[in-house]
Amino acid sequence: MNRSFQTVLEMKYMKKHTAGIHHITAIVGHPQENIDFYAGVLGLRLVKQTVNFDDPGTYHLYFGDEAGSPGTIITFFPWANAHPGVIGDGQVGVTTYAIPVGALEYWKQRLTSFNIPYVVAERFGETLLQFDDVHGLHLELVEREEGPLNHWTFGGVTKDVAIKGFGGAVLYSSRPQHTATVLSDVLGLQAIGTDGVYARYASTAQIGNIIDIKMTEGQLGKMGPGTVHHIAWRAEDDQDQRSWQEFVSSFGLHVTDVRDRSYFNAIYFREPGSILFEIATDPPGFAYDESPETMGSKLMLPVQYEQHRDRLKQMLLPIEVRELTSD
Ligand code: ZN
Repeated sequence: MNRSFQTVLEMKYMKKHTAGIHHITAIVGHPQENIDFYAGVLGLRLVKQTVNFDDPGTYHLYFGDEAGSPGTIITFFPWANAHPGVIGDGQVGVTTYAIPVGALEYWKQRLTSFNIPYVVAERFGETLLQFDDVHGLHLELVEREEGPLNHWTFGGVTKDVAIKGFGGAVLYSSRPQHTATVLSDVLGLQAIGTDGVYARYASTAQIGNIIDIKMTEGQLGKMGPGTVHHIAWRAEDDQDQRSWQEFVSSFGLHVTDVRDRSYFNAIYFREPGSILFEIATDPPGFAYDESPETMGSKLMLPVQYEQHRDRLKQMLLPIEVRELTSD
């Protein structure tokens, strides 16, 4: 039996599993307002300042735990003067963050001290603290046992209460049944059950591992500030990513070629419910071009843009990570 036929056979019977969410990328408004919210209020670490590699006149800002671990990373394209988007089908509707057990009361008080309104909701027996970020993205906090503590301390948020990373996400799909099939058959997530209009799926990681799909359809979302652009799932390395590329293609989904994002490699496909999915490699990570101690403190550019640094800096708004004073 020749090797390519062997590969075809393996592909046909292989089942793959992603460990869970690698990162979530959203479009927001002014970059300083974005930093003030995610670092100043939520206490996350700005782990990388760079530009959008496909549009280098705008920032790409990455926030996560102290190491920028997969499953903790939220990334933003700040479009300071753009018309707001609309959250709806074909998007991640809600981004869920996991906090340590016992930390919910702390966060109620912290949000109140920054005049951020919240509601308390429940799904699958868990209590959720739901609020919007400064540009309208829907966020929620949930207490979870699993997942390592985040040792990054900023603005009074200490490790015993700090956001650990993603608890998961709530997907708004234009074809929820099809999206559910992609989660189970393509990404290899395990169906957990349903609660009202939500179906729950789980992956193997301790963080970024619980995905809920709203099984009812609503209005289609519109891309713009205040909406999620895509959700990325984890691949172990480049070889695993190539295997994902073939595997996803074998379901008749159109997958892009591999894009070099410096801190990971990426492939993209749009699932049948219109949500843009990415599969991103865990390595090399955010200490690739800066030390773990100083990463995030200055603008980093990939080689193709380094020669344009001065011109790009003139186009980009000045930003800083700063401690905020609450009421
Ligand atoms: Zn991405």
